Amino acid sequence: MAPGNPADPCVHCGFCLPTCASWRVLGTEMDSPRGRIHTLKAIEAGELTLDATVASHFDSCLGCFACVTACPASVRYDQLIEAVRSQLNAPELRSPAQRALRRLLLTLLPYPRRLRALLTPLAPYAGSALQGWLRRQGWAARLGPELQAMEALLPALPAGAFGPDPSGVMPARGPRRARVGLVLGCVQRVFDPAVNAATLRVLQANGIEVVLPEGQGCCGAVTHHQGDLAGTGALAADLAARFRAIAERHGPLDAVLVAASGCGHTLKHYATLLPAGDAGLPAPVLDVHEFLDQLGLADDFRAALRPLPLPDGSPSRPERPLVVAYHDACHMIHGQGIQRQPRQLLQAIPHVQLREATEAGVCCGSAGIYNLVQPEEAAALGRLKADDLTGTGADLAASANIGCTLQLRRHLADAPRPIPVLHPLELLDRSAALR
Ligand code: SF4
Ligand code: SF4
Repeated sequence: MAPGNPADPCVHCGFCLPTCASWRVLGTEMDSPRGRIHTLKAIEAGELTLDATVASHFDSCLGCFACVTACPASVRYDQLIEAVRSQLNAPELRSPAQRALRRLLLTLLPYPRRLRALLTPLAPYAGSALQGWLRRQGWAARLGPELQAMEALLPALPAGAFGPDPSGVMPARGPRRARVGLVLGCVQRVFDPAVNAATLRVLQANGIEVVLPEGQGCCGAVTHHQGDLAGTGALAADLAARFRAIAERHGPLDAVLVAASGCGHTLKHYATLLPAGDAGLPAPVLDVHEFLDQLGLADDFRAALRPLPLPDGSPSRPERPLVVAYHDACHMIHGQGIQRQPRQLLQAIPHVQLREATEAGVCCGSAGIYNLVQPEEAAALGRLKADDLTGTGADLAASANIGCTLQLRRHLADAPRPIPVLHPLELLDRSAALR
């Protein structure tokens, strides 16, 4: 192997295997981090060729980075898989149907206008009684696993899903403590617009002015995850330029925030993703939980927090708290090392009790577009995660990444005791009764 290769420190101990989502559901060495590292070394030594079969074992990787956290030898598997991903897009490595599906998803998901145009005729169906009935009849199984997975993930689409996106200056309530930009996320603004709305209210109520450039697009997370580096660079450059322009117009920003951790992970890697010479974002990127934890909740906001209702509608109380299972998104816990801050913010809400899932660090199967292009493996992981979360006895689950939220909602709906999934900022917003 080349000197300094990130695979060099691997001692093949296998400590990473139990945390690896693909190994958990496929059970084969080739679909584990250790196996993939071995394969990479064999390719580099000329003993193996990257053909369609070998590529399928890299495609089975969710890019969750649980193996990076687990590895005692500090192997940077994230760097290894990122280097391979762009090679997997070679036409001979995937079937025409797989290539067409990925092309379709990458043509739609990063572009809210296109996605909204596609979803507009589906809005009356999404979340309707008809959808529920048809799902129970199992009609979508006739569409094939990929389209069935898309149908199963389609949530109800409220009016806010179709815009307009918030833009301009959202003033701080009370004395201004900070000025930030907010990245809306291309999928989050369409499939769960309530999250950005709640995030804005919580930030403003904490004395934070929020500026939002008009027409902001995708941060590049979806294409980044698929190894499309040219597409990612173009999306990143456009987003960064819009934030620079609004910062020039309204004054310097303390941070650029995001409330979807998949986006946050990519935004934090802009230094390596932007085209050479690009000036980048005008301020450091922080996850919204990270920022609120650093700044601290405003005293009047903290004082206004009230107990949230229990599933039966009665208020939570010391002897019967609202039990919340916080779900760690992989790009938050493994990708950004953020674990404490969301939990701490949730515990600011009176009578909230956090309960931990037993396998908090294992991927839920969402992983960008993984649950659409590898639907069987993703569904197995979704079921495991739903069982794990409901097994805590929680009243609800909290998730700070839109991909995980959609995946959890889809699989928790089938659980014997379905529980809702909300973003931590939505819970803070409701507790402060900001709406
Ligand atoms: S990647 Fe790390 S944990 Fe996994 S086998 Fe290699 S040294 Fe062990
Ligand atoms: S990134 Fe996740 S799925 Fe891929 S090898 Fe590591 S633990 Fe397994």
